[in-house]
Amino acid sequence: TVRTRVAPSPTGDPHVGTAYIALFNRCFAHQHGGQFILRIEDTDQTRSTNESEQMILDSLKWLGLSWDEGPDVGGPHGPYRQSERKDMYREYAETLIEKGHAFKCFRTSEELDVLRAELKEKGENRALKPQDLELSAEEQSRREAENAPYVIRMRVPFDGRCEIQDMLRGTVELDWALVDAQILLKSDGMPTYHLANIVDDHLMEITHVIRGEEWLNSAPKHKLLYEYFGWDMPVLCHMPLLRNPDKSKLSKRKNPTSILFYQRMGYLPEALVNYLGRMGWSMPDESEKFSLEQMQEAFDIQRVSLGGPVFDVEKLSWLNGQWLREQSDEQFLDSLLNWAYNRDYAMKIIPHLRQRVETLSEVADKAAFCFNGMPAITPASFEHKQYGAEDMVVWLQYLLWTYEARSDWSRDGLFADAKAIADALEVKIKDFLLPVFIAIAGTSASFSVVDSMEIIGSDVSRARIRHAIE
Ligand code: ATP
Ligand code: GLU
Repeated sequence: TVRTRVAPSPTGDPHVGTAYIALFNRCFAHQHGGQFILRIEDTDQTRSTNESEQMILDSLKWLGLSWDEGPDVGGPHGPYRQSERKDMYREYAETLIEKGHAFKCFRTSEELDVLRAELKEKGENRALKPQDLELSAEEQSRREAENAPYVIRMRVPFDGRCEIQDMLRGTVELDWALVDAQILLKSDGMPTYHLANIVDDHLMEITHVIRGEEWLNSAPKHKLLYEYFGWDMPVLCHMPLLRNPDKSKLSKRKNPTSILFYQRMGYLPEALVNYLGRMGWSMPDESEKFSLEQMQEAFDIQRVSLGGPVFDVEKLSWLNGQWLREQSDEQFLDSLLNWAYNRDYAMKIIPHLRQRVETLSEVADKAAFCFNGMPAITPASFEHKQYGAEDMVVWLQYLLWTYEARSDWSRDGLFADAKAIADALEVKIKDFLLPVFIAIAGTSASFSVVDSMEIIGSDVSRARIRHAIE
């Protein structure tokens, strides 16, 4: 039976690219009467967080992209979280050493820098190979006796061509020269993506690996690992990456990439899934509006076109409008209530607002920015007795860079970042926050802007600051 998987790393906001890949994997598996699996690839312990994992699960569920096996629903091939499978990977890496397909590498990062510099000097355009990395027998035993830290690396051919079969591309040839002696097990005992991914795809009996094009260059390593282990390799299918309207790879600096952004902006899950289904794919009858079920029924992976699909927010909005207009009044109301017109969301706003009104009729106006998209801003919005709009735009840019790197989105953290930048610029925090108020609430006559940002969330806040700068 066909088994596919989506294997996100929980290192940030839930990416629309993850939903896109999940959608195609799910359609492919279910169309063949098979299973679709969700696996959490959290071997990068410094970057993985539980919150990120939870957001990914919640976002995919919100989109209706449920899975047959996964960390929350379990299944016969669990655990489905790589951090819980950690001990297994070491054994597999050691098997490869025994078979002579991998080796312990004691090189320090300084030594690696020197080796790379030497290659460059010699004008050799190739990756570091086992031949470069291996130490003399004495040196190796000396470091071993010292208990020096080591990694386990795979052996790779020095040169020649590697042929990869891809469902959409046919045979793809890649140069072995560019493939490095990949680390399989890090010095802390954790596997790298490559080892864990291959071991798990095998043990979870994955038959088809449908993933982003960015992984095509890793396919030679993966093919070799399957050979080393003596396992059958799943069929590979590399999907074209989503692009910004300027055709560059979709990136959060140019376009919101978090599913949470689209959720908070009031897009319907059905419309977002529909739009993702049109990324590089079309219905046989070319219809623009279709449901997940309809897509699954008509699905044919060979209809994926390799030209980079453009994720265009305006087109998504148009499609969302189509979905909204076809709803009944009742359905529309339910959508509104599910979205933000509900008790939970209102209770976040009310504590900040109730002190500031004399009558209930003032509430809608004062809370409007918690429900709106981008506020209407002009340069005149930034009027200030001392500073000009140009100064304030620079402040906002600094703040945006800081906020893009921030993972904990709490009012105190947001305030601390603003205060640190204001201090560095020698601007009073009150003045510094003025353009932030304008960007977030459209006016400085609002309740605390750090509370506002916590309420509307990181994605919408960042998008509004970016909008104010542009
Ligand atoms: P950014 O460039 O905005 O920082 P990123 O590449 O760092 O994005 P990751 O956090 O590395 O994003 O990726 C999260 C998930 O989204 C991964 O599974 C990745 O394959 C997928 N992804 C990222 N960018 C795209 C894209 N342009 N098209 C399809 N999938 C993508
Ligand atoms: N963890 C990888 C990612 O985040 C999975 C890549 C794959 O599907 O092999 O994209």
